[in-house]
Amino acid sequence: MKKDDIKVVKKLLNTPKKILIIPHKNPDGDAIGASLGLYDYLRSQGHHPVVIAPNEYPEFLKWMPGNEQVLIYESGKDACEKVIGEAELCFTLDFNALNRIGDLESGLKSFSGDYLMIDHHQQPDTYATVTYSDVSMSSTCEMVYHFIDALGHSDLISEATANCLYTGIMTDTGSFRFPATTSTTHRVIASLIDKGAKNSEIHNNIYDSNSPERLQLLGCALSNLTALEEYNTAYITLTAKELDQHQFKKGDTEGFVNYGLSLKGIRFAVIFIENIQEGIVKISLRSKGDFSVNEFSRKHFQGGGHINAAGGKSDLPLEETVAFFKSLLPQYKEALTQ
Ligand code: 5GP
Ligand code: MN
Repeated sequence: MKKDDIKVVKKLLNTPKKILIIPHKNPDGDAIGASLGLYDYLRSQGHHPVVIAPNEYPEFLKWMPGNEQVLIYESGKDACEKVIGEAELCFTLDFNALNRIGDLESGLKSFSGDYLMIDHHQQPDTYATVTYSDVSMSSTCEMVYHFIDALGHSDLISEATANCLYTGIMTDTGSFRFPATTSTTHRVIASLIDKGAKNSEIHNNIYDSNSPERLQLLGCALSNLTALEEYNTAYITLTAKELDQHQFKKGDTEGFVNYGLSLKGIRFAVIFIENIQEGIVKISLRSKGDFSVNEFSRKHFQGGGHINAAGGKSDLPLEETVAFFKSLLPQYKEALTQ
């Protein structure tokens, strides 16, 4: 963090404040971990924070300390808007533009305080008074650790915060294997374990809490996996019918896209998931090496994210979306095979 920004933050936090903490829509382990980790820290400092998630999130994240206090905008607009109207500060965590919070963006109209952004996505917008953006960071949770450290308070990190921040670092690094995992990431992780993070329990809570239906859905996804070796590309499709047949619940498809990348030689993997309620196909894109799925998704699929992990969507039906995707690949052949 820049020295001047630290000064501004210290000033903003030097008296008890009513503070909003907002993760992105469809929050993942990093977004919820960062939000609840920061929530516990701010409370310990005498502030009055409230986490407002734009919409629901998967069950496997709900064990985190502070979870019961999270407000969900989608299902409780009135209660959320009351809190928003009274808030003095707003932390936005794990996203780079306010359109990433869906309808909550318009819910924030009555907020007139300062925004503080902590995020590691490419191309951050400039709405915040303090923008702590670092695209080289493994996760927003790692950044929240550095943020607390910059305020001189790393010794005050509680067991609750440690458990939350560990979770987001673990999920966003694919359990410490993606290239953004640095020696500093591991030092932060070591420090979080020293502060009480139950590392083995966290892995268990996140990764070993499958339902039989979810594993069968994975089986279905894997049987739909198609490799296009000519382009070092693989993709998976899931229709709404297939999701229904496996009693799909939020979070069930998390991580499926990575199986494409586990095929030998594959550098670009995509999953297309039909969402009939929203009338879209939700797309997750992953890559290895220099091929930027952020650029690809921004250009063709109304999305973005990081160089090696991005999201997007399509308004075309599933089959047409896949056909369109395939039609794009020849122009990327060199980048994907060099
Ligand atoms: P996922 O595929 O898991 O939905 O998203 C992968 C990564 O890209 C996550 O870090 C997520 O926050 C980010 N992401 C997903 N959708 C979008 C989008 O529409 N815009 C931007 N900027 N980032 C996205
Ligand atoms: Mn993240």
